[in-house]
Amino acid sequence: MDFKNLISHCKEYGFIYQSSEIYDGLSAVYDYGPYGVELKNNIKSYWWKSMVQMHENIVGIDAAIFMHPKTWKASGHVDAFNDPLVDNKDSKKRYRADQLIEGYAEKIEAKNIKDVEKAKARFGDSFDENQFRSTNDRIIERQKQIDEVLDRLAKAMGAGDMEALGNMINEYEIVCPESGSRNWTEVRQFNLMFNTQLGNIAGEEGKLYLRPETAQGIFVNFLNVQKSTRQKIPFGIAQIGKAFRNEIVARQFIFRMREFEQMEMQFFVKPGTEMEWYNYWKETRLKWHTALGTNPNKLKYHDHKNLAHYANAAVDIEFEFPFGFRELEGIHSRTDFDLREHQNLSGKKLQYFDPEMNENYTPYVVETSIGCDRMFLAMVANALKEEKVPDADGQDSVRTVLSLHPALAPVKVAVLPLLKNKEELTSAAQDVFHSLKKHFSVQYDEKDAIGRRYRRQDAIGTPYCITIDFETLENNTVTIRNRDTLVQERISIDEIKTKIGNNVSLESLL
Ligand code: ATP
Repeated sequence: MDFKNLISHCKEYGFIYQSSEIYDGLSAVYDYGPYGVELKNNIKSYWWKSMVQMHENIVGIDAAIFMHPKTWKASGHVDAFNDPLVDNKDSKKRYRADQLIEGYAEKIEAKNIKDVEKAKARFGDSFDENQFRSTNDRIIERQKQIDEVLDRLAKAMGAGDMEALGNMINEYEIVCPESGSRNWTEVRQFNLMFNTQLGNIAGEEGKLYLRPETAQGIFVNFLNVQKSTRQKIPFGIAQIGKAFRNEIVARQFIFRMREFEQMEMQFFVKPGTEMEWYNYWKETRLKWHTALGTNPNKLKYHDHKNLAHYANAAVDIEFEFPFGFRELEGIHSRTDFDLREHQNLSGKKLQYFDPEMNENYTPYVVETSIGCDRMFLAMVANALKEEKVPDADGQDSVRTVLSLHPALAPVKVAVLPLLKNKEELTSAAQDVFHSLKKHFSVQYDEKDAIGRRYRRQDAIGTPYCITIDFETLENNTVTIRNRDTLVQERISIDEIKTKIGNNVSLESLL
């Protein structure tokens, strides 16, 4: 399904609304509706269960969003959490200079792809793309251009050289996609942190930031947690919470938001063992994604070539969103950078005493960091489809179905009396609803014809529908319909719980 339809589906079925929509919305801020909050909570539970409760050596915390302003000085965010900003004077639109330049390189690559496609069509089965790319003069020339552009970009970004970025935009004659003009302002650094003011302190002293990542709440609590839980290295601290970034360009629905939620785990290890753990978490995290039944071709690793100043290795798990492969989760080996910087600025020791080595050291950190909202978008994009199915008369009809893993589905089972105005049926259905609601997220629905009710449940991803009909009144049996196979089985009311229980629980994923 295309991206626009996905967004309207999310709104129509109560998953996601634009924030403060009656005032025309606030850009890149979204609210989760009744089904959205259930799906999001299930994603968070899956993460928490597998990352925290399944590990004896990982514990959770819930740190505050506001932190002492020095936190962000130490972490480098005050000085370096910037994106290069450029405005087009005609359209008044703002862009990230690095993205404009990347877009220029992508356009050159698009020409190469076109040539490759043409050659493929001409040569058929005997076509060897690698050979073609390494021998075709035009492609070689363009590839050289791309490498040069990306190389210059990496150098300018690495050096924080805004003038160099501006020169590239001019030299490559990059135009504003909106106005088509080249009337640009200078490129300047734009800090992505939101700030606000403490009530009782005036001026810079009282300046507070909304945290741009949850990780720092974990670093500053490292010793508190280690001491109070008596964990031994290696061990991890995990957290789910809101983060805020004043993103310059945020146009891809919940992919890039200004207020979002992160699920992060910082794993503290002995210096020198970090690459071992980095590889362990890289693999473990990919398995967490594939356990959900996500097509493995839609997930891939992307190694970072230009590492952040604090990292000695970094990889993204990318997912193929409707607009291409993009970062879903990051796994970073952060060295001892954060703990060391906090130690320096606070003057407080943040070291671990290793009883086996009989010495103190500052642990190294391997982190896994995933955006809850991006995961939500990945799951919906992966699951939402239109498909042809036979209707009640055996004719082809089209249904929209959200084939989420049952453990993530917002509603596990819908209870439907065959007819609305037969008291015997509705009251039997209510009894079934009340007996199941303690165990699962259940919905009772009696409005409209049964076929339409099935379709509504398909559209929100409900794995099972239970129908109460006249036979139920005779022998306490119901039909249970499977969302994916469309098979309807007759089972007794007593069997419902065991029949669906295993399939919709998180246990099946762990
Ligand atoms: P990007 O390059 O896409 O801006 P990033 O490298 O800045 O992402 P990290 O700082 O590594 O992202 O953050 C960890 C995770 O948090 C990301 O993998 C992503 O899932 C999520 N995330 C980051 N920024 C946003 C945002 N603006 N909206 C939603 N999720 C986000």
